[in-house]
Amino acid sequence: MLETEVYDCPYCGEAVEAILDLSGGDQTYIEDCPVCCRPITFVLQIHDGEWMLEVRSENE
Ligand SMILES: [Zn+2]
Repeated sequence: MLETEVYDCPYCGEAVEAILDLSGGDQTYIEDCPVCCRPITFVLQIHDGEWMLEVRSENE
């Protein structure tokens, strides 16, 4: 199951769309921002059909 979510890059502040694979359960992964190319940490948490995405910069 794929969902899309728009987040603000913690570095450059640009709104970027992420594609999330909810079938994988809770996950933490790093992807480079397509705008400023800096590594963003994504924390995806799924609980009782609700999901939440948190984005962090490398230093947080
Ligand atoms: Zn960025």
